[in-house]
Amino acid sequence: MDLKKQLMLEVAQRILAEKILCDHCLGRQFALLGYGLSNKKRGEIIKNALVLQLIDKLAENETNLRVLTNIALSGNRLARESLERKNQPVPERKENCTICKDLFTKLDFYTKKVLDKLEGEEYTTFLVGAKITPELMEREDNLRAKYQITTGESIKSEFTRELGKRIMSVTGKEPNFDQPEITILVDLQQEKITLQRRSLFIYGRYNKYIRTIPQTKWPCYECNGKGCKSCNFTGKRYQESVEELIAAPVLKITKGTCTRFHGAGREDIDALMLGSGRPFILEIREPKVRTIDLKKIERVINRKARKKVAVSRLAFSSKKQVQTLKQQAEQSQKTYRAKIELEKPKTPNEIRQVVETLKNAVIEQATPSRVLHRRANLNRRKKVFDITIKQLDPIHLLAEITGQGGLYIKELISGDGGRTKPSFSSILECEARCTELDVIKIHYKDFK
Ligand SMILES: [Zn+2]
Ligand SMILES: [Zn+2]
Repeated sequence: MDLKKQLMLEVAQRILAEKILCDHCLGRQFALLGYGLSNKKRGEIIKNALVLQLIDKLAENETNLRVLTNIALSGNRLARESLERKNQPVPERKENCTICKDLFTKLDFYTKKVLDKLEGEEYTTFLVGAKITPELMEREDNLRAKYQITTGESIKSEFTRELGKRIMSVTGKEPNFDQPEITILVDLQQEKITLQRRSLFIYGRYNKYIRTIPQTKWPCYECNGKGCKSCNFTGKRYQESVEELIAAPVLKITKGTCTRFHGAGREDIDALMLGSGRPFILEIREPKVRTIDLKKIERVINRKARKKVAVSRLAFSSKKQVQTLKQQAEQSQKTYRAKIELEKPKTPNEIRQVVETLKNAVIEQATPSRVLHRRANLNRRKKVFDITIKQLDPIHLLAEITGQGGLYIKELISGDGGRTKPSFSSILECEARCTELDVIKIHYKDFK
């Protein structure tokens, strides 16, 4: 017998001289030694080996009889038969395991409970998690400390693995440790099962065709979302948003609990989002249905949000892509169309000056005064890549501006009281004001 095995048997013998352990709990103390067995099988083999080793040495040492009696008390057949053959007292009944209190005999009970809970859920992969009682953990910790066991596996990982195996064999679904679609949480104290469903992420682009709705839900200032007279008890400052118009049909189809909208930046409420649209990822929390027809969803959204919002290029996405979306949104160039009104009439020559000064210029921009109440005051340098201006009459202009991500266009026009330099106002030496602003292109590559 190799040294490892011999040491294992010695430790097991010392434990079993004092405690009654089920096969799982005994085998688990030596899980890291390998041998490719389940803890239960290993525990049983150790017990049988000890019975064979000690049965003829009962006279040598009185603890040998205690070890065999404790093994018999744990329900081991070989121990009972051997004691009987040697005319030794055989315990009348079986006793509970001192560590797990026979938790592992309840595996079928928990399997049934989990399967009931999973009824009607749609998933392909799962993970089992367990909340083990503190008392149980403490009993195992004490055992390990007392017998200096360093080769054990945690009871939690054995329990969840064994439960997982049973669930897999009944449902045919795959366990997945990284990104399970459903996480099954077993609370052993309360004998309660809860399910956590992985969020569903849908990428797409949206267009916004009206100047009166914000991108995301906007809680009422007065009541902070609780509902009051001034918001007509809706809790919302704006009754609709791009987010809600897109999310409502998706939420209905997936039976999720709520959504989060991740946009690649946002336009002002009064700005349109035209062209090929703005990238976004819609996150659906706790979806009960995951297999969905995105083409069909696209049609439903576009029909219901008609003339307000439209979506395109819907595709399944991931949490990781939300991060990428945010980063790329800051970097990507955007092209705007702005209607501008001047305080004084200007000549075509003066307007040409604006184009010549701003094309390829780096703009010094302090956080706009209109957003200072919610953003830190920072100075940024953002580039204007391209600009064309059409003069409609001496005081009205139509400009198309392509700028680096993060360039504030309204301030590029007004100058924001000198906080943005240079600006239309500073070049023309007269007040310029943006009366309408639309995003016509976001220079952004879709996820592959
Ligand atoms: Zn046990
Ligand atoms: Zn309110």
